[in-house]
Amino acid sequence: MMQKNEKKLTKVKYNHDNREYIILNKCPHCNLDIHPTVENTYRFENKSFEIHILSLTCPSCRKDYFVVNNCGELNNNQERYLLTIPGHTFQDESLIQNTSKKFQNLYTQSIHAELQGNDDIAFFGYIKSLEVLVKDIAIIEHPDSEDMVLFSSLIQCLEKFHSTNIHLFSKKLLEVLKNDYLHYQKGPEFSSYTELVKDCIDYFLLYLELLQKTFSLNDKRTEKEA
Ligand SMILES: [Zn+2]
Repeated sequence: MMQKNEKKLTKVKYNHDNREYIILNKCPHCNLDIHPTVENTYRFENKSFEIHILSLTCPSCRKDYFVVNNCGELNNNQERYLLTIPGHTFQDESLIQNTSKKFQNLYTQSIHAELQGNDDIAFFGYIKSLEVLVKDIAIIEHPDSEDMVLFSSLIQCLEKFHSTNIHLFSKKLLEVLKNDYLHYQKGPEFSSYTELVKDCIDYFLLYLELLQKTFSLNDKRTEKEA
């Protein structure tokens, strides 16, 4: 539904010393898509677990961070990734900076939930993040209708205040956003729709950026005219 301006935060394979690790594709400090270098590795093990810690350096901002992996016998490679220290805050990402603190908190927590494998919680977190974002934008565009925005459901708000945007949505996305109990009950797992909802959030983040640029252009024009 949209062109990606940048890659999403995701788990990627990383080979070091003849071993395959799972790390995140972006630096937790500068949020750039990087291929970090290994500064050091640490290993902790007992009879049940084998934990490896990579100390990595970002080639762009030169800052260090840790990635913790479970390298014992696993059924699923996705379980290998445990943790990045520090966690990603996304504060330096320009599209996120435009948004309200409420959105930022919810969205960041949803991303962390997804990275930890809490897929159902992540899905509902993303849906609620989208609702906060869509309503924040609607209030910017229609300040006189704030009450109506606040008391509407996500889909009502989209239909009333983003009717041009909603034309771009796929049928599947609309079904998911309608949040119908039966739809979830009969369909596949919640988390199978997560990517659709994340694309929709990305779309509105770009839309908000454009909106704010338009507003600041108009402000400059009014200043000149005055
Ligand atoms: Zn960096």
